[in-house]
Amino acid sequence: MPWHNEEAANSSLKSLLPSLPSAQMLLPSFCYTQQIETASMTSIAQRFLSTAAPYLPTTYNALATRYDNMPFRRAGRSGLLLPSIALGLWQNFGDADPIANSRSVLRRSFDLGITHFDLANNYGPPQGAAERTFGLIFNADFRSYRDEMVISTKAGYDMWPGPYGEWGSRKYLIASLDQSLIRMGLDYVDVFYSHRPDPETPLEETMGALDHIVRSGKALYVGISNYSPEQTRESSRILRALGTPCLLHQPRYNMFDRHVEGGLLEVLKEEGIGCIVFSPLAQGLLTERYLGGIPTDSRAGKAGRFLKPENVNEEALGRARQLAALAQRRGQTLAQLAVTWILRQPQITSVLIGASRATQIEELHAGLSYPQLTASELEEIENCLK
Ligand code: NDP
Repeated sequence: MPWHNEEAANSSLKSLLPSLPSAQMLLPSFCYTQQIETASMTSIAQRFLSTAAPYLPTTYNALATRYDNMPFRRAGRSGLLLPSIALGLWQNFGDADPIANSRSVLRRSFDLGITHFDLANNYGPPQGAAERTFGLIFNADFRSYRDEMVISTKAGYDMWPGPYGEWGSRKYLIASLDQSLIRMGLDYVDVFYSHRPDPETPLEETMGALDHIVRSGKALYVGISNYSPEQTRESSRILRALGTPCLLHQPRYNMFDRHVEGGLLEVLKEEGIGCIVFSPLAQGLLTERYLGGIPTDSRAGKAGRFLKPENVNEEALGRARQLAALAQRRGQTLAQLAVTWILRQPQITSVLIGASRATQIEELHAGLSYPQLTASELEEIENCLK
């Protein structure tokens, strides 16, 4: 079915999805036109790669200037450089989100030097949807740029029913990555994470599965997320002994949540592990988004599970107002200041942002060229946060 303009293609894409709930979780939407249920994973992937291209015309040429204004930082003591800002697809890439907008966010990011895109098996909603959306756009726009991209995914949270659909067993992690690769139409991911520590599975099993995944060629590097300092040190020891060093830790870090300063950053430095921090804008609270009320199209306004209207309270807003005033004196926005503040820490490799529109990416990218915070500005921030 050829489309003659992109808008028509974009709006038609989601209508290709029939109601096949189990397959829908697994497969890129355009696979539904095939007899998928009896096919093996490999033949599904082969058919996907050979048949997907006609559904979305490729009209994207990345900007030649894309590397001009993006500082790259080394991930721990590895050979991998990552952009100071990376894009996460946790929100805004689900089945209900317009694919034209998702596409413009991805294209604008790449045009501005954001080479790193972060996913997880369960991002959506529904679970798996963000990987499918990404796969669709990747196949149309980014396939020829694959070697300029660092794509990550994770497994750890609830993904499918039964005892093998979450946590940290070898059974779950390996099956989940196989599913993620099919949804995204990739041969391998650059980074595969254990998304959260499993209190019941031996760390040796979880780390052994990560090592196996690298050796089987399905990921180039591995990481961990939401692990405590002690769990991180032990995981790092096991992985190093196996010959697959831990590349990255992915914790939450922002002006409102500084738990990583209580030991984790120190462990990461000692172990030579990079640190890519999620929710650097506290899901939007550290921006000017909520200073005049809760917009209906915002994360809190959409009454999501993760940023509730009650989180937009006077305490958070009072601090955000003071910080916004400081940012304004520097000529920055609050969102830009929040990123500058995180990147003051040399152990931080990347700030992993989310965005509901391309202009938010542009704003954060522009913020990278501002000077570092002075000692007195840092003190003023400490006072705002008391
Ligand atoms: P942020 O703290 O960056 O929040 C992103 C939200 O802030 C956007 O959706 C947007 O909200 C708002 N925003 C962004 N830029 C601007 C701007 N310039 N001006 C005003 N508002 C802005 O990060 P997320 O919480 O989205 O997390 C980022 C990524 O981190 C995820 O996508 C995921 O990859 C990863 N992550 C990992 C977790 C883990 O357990 N490992 C857990 C959570 C996230 P709005 O939609 O209202 O416009």
